[in-house]
Amino acid sequence: MDALIARARALLARAENVAVLCGAGVSAESGVPTFRGQGGLWQDHRPEDLATPQAFDRDPELVWRWYNWRRGLIAACRPNPAHLALARLQERKPGLCLITQNVDGLQQLAGSRDVIELHGSIWRLRCTACGAEAEDRRPALPALPRCAACGGLLRPGVVWFGEQLDPVLLERAWQTAGACQAMLVVGTSAVVQPVASLAGVAKAAGAALIEVNLVTTANSQSADLTLLGPAGRILPQLTA
Ligand SMILES: [Zn+2]
Repeated sequence: MDALIARARALLARAENVAVLCGAGVSAESGVPTFRGQGGLWQDHRPEDLATPQAFDRDPELVWRWYNWRRGLIAACRPNPAHLALARLQERKPGLCLITQNVDGLQQLAGSRDVIELHGSIWRLRCTACGAEAEDRRPALPALPRCAACGGLLRPGVVWFGEQLDPVLLERAWQTAGACQAMLVVGTSAVVQPVASLAGVAKAAGAALIEVNLVTTANSQSADLTLLGPAGRILPQLTA
């Protein structure tokens, strides 16, 4: 393992532009609950029945109750050593760009800048009437939060099932992947498109692919090296 860490450090040191692709595995170590397997209060609801535009049209109050519950859980979570290591790496490599599938904002809380939040942020609100966006970090919002500008109903600023990713962010992610010399793929199996393609784009452009995950994934085969273990233990060794 030490030899693998040393190789990964060398690959990172050589790269002027580093891209990082983060998945749920990074935040899981902070205790951020995944969509599934929560049980308790919401065990009778499937995420597919709550995190959709149709569910929101049908019963926005129910969807907001669920999001307020999730906001409360996430508000209690702190950045873990993986988030902090990535923030530190960005200080050393100002060209570093983070692309995340997480909506919890923990990477920014750790000090990272310019994070591309492909799936949006649970702390962002978007008006369903005028499209205005605002950030609001209060754990619990009113039952049906309203837009300060027009009074329209606000919705969570996240990408729901059946919705497209923001094409502007996607384009930035694509550019980042194509322009990096090393890509770290952390805590994600990256099987969901179009995220799955980003590692391939980086690889095709000649970047070194370094995977950090608990288990091997579909990426492992094309990765230059795979470091198996918790991101919170491995990333600090890469960036120390
Ligand atoms: Zn509005």
